[in-house]
Amino acid sequence: MIVRASIGTLATIGLLNIDIVEKPTTAYILLYSQSGCLGTCMFCSQSMLSTSSKSLVSRVSWPEVDLKVLTRGIKGCDVFERVCIQTVIKEGFKEDVLKIINTLRSEGIGKPVSVSLTPTDKDYLILLKDLGVDYLGIGFDAATPKTFNLVKKPYSWQTYLEFLRDCMDVFGPNKIYIHLIYGLGDNDLEFINAMKYFIGLGVRIALFAFTPVKGTPYESRNKPNIINYRKVQILRYLLTLGYNVDDYIIVNNGNVYLRRELVRNILENIDGYLNVFITSGCPGCNRPFYNESVRGPYYNYPSTNFLRKHISDLMRELRILMDEGGSIR
Ligand code: SF4
Repeated sequence: MIVRASIGTLATIGLLNIDIVEKPTTAYILLYSQSGCLGTCMFCSQSMLSTSSKSLVSRVSWPEVDLKVLTRGIKGCDVFERVCIQTVIKEGFKEDVLKIINTLRSEGIGKPVSVSLTPTDKDYLILLKDLGVDYLGIGFDAATPKTFNLVKKPYSWQTYLEFLRDCMDVFGPNKIYIHLIYGLGDNDLEFINAMKYFIGLGVRIALFAFTPVKGTPYESRNKPNIINYRKVQILRYLLTLGYNVDDYIIVNNGNVYLRRELVRNILENIDGYLNVFITSGCPGCNRPFYNESVRGPYYNYPSTNFLRKHISDLMRELRILMDEGGSIR
């Protein structure tokens, strides 16, 4: 069976001879489909609407590899804390996921497994859980039904919500990561309200920064402002810890500003807040350079060590955020 694996995964296990700045701490596998995904998401290189290479997701390259060769490599590599299987919509995709998990297990790989899924039936979710999948990712991507429709996500917002309910029933809410992409068109208030809503349900948020990919309908859309992204990272962090973020923001005509004292406190105690800016996702997931060039600016830092090397950039961004409260959209 042929699958795709991220270039960083293949380099880490020695199947590609390239230098990597930061090793992935999760082995990332993507289902193979020559024609990509049957979905039509405007921002995604796997989409039917995209003319870009089907070996891309976001700015990462995913070469084809034989599943057995890949699993043997994963087995011999202790860098990986987890295996993540990312799906596309295609005929037989559910069976492909089962085959990958069974191959991992038959090779003796007992590492935790996450699956990123589009809506499926509840019985399938039970099957995944029985096979030892411990976390699920759900790509809502958009923060509102309006943007969800505009970017042409498959199914409907309502179907995704019903799927989320099923996932919560089977796995428990704290084992679900909702993927949200900042910069798809939702304004800050809408984005923050979506984070509030999902975290209020007990599920978690994996935050992504919109990344234009050549060949997609959204190729000329701008990347989000890094200062605004810092604001959203801070609010995600506070919400996850159970804070009422209304105490820390000022809302004016739909624009959201952070209170200056909050940002000053983070700046003055930065060592205690590094995790705010580290990649958010399943335990062990660091997605190095998924949304950014290795030259930066770094939307999500793959590790605290890497962040410390670039701390002056982050401090400069936080000073701007303190002065401006977060720029107006
Ligand atoms: S469903 Fe997922 S893989 Fe398919 S086009 Fe949309 S974002 Fe891409």
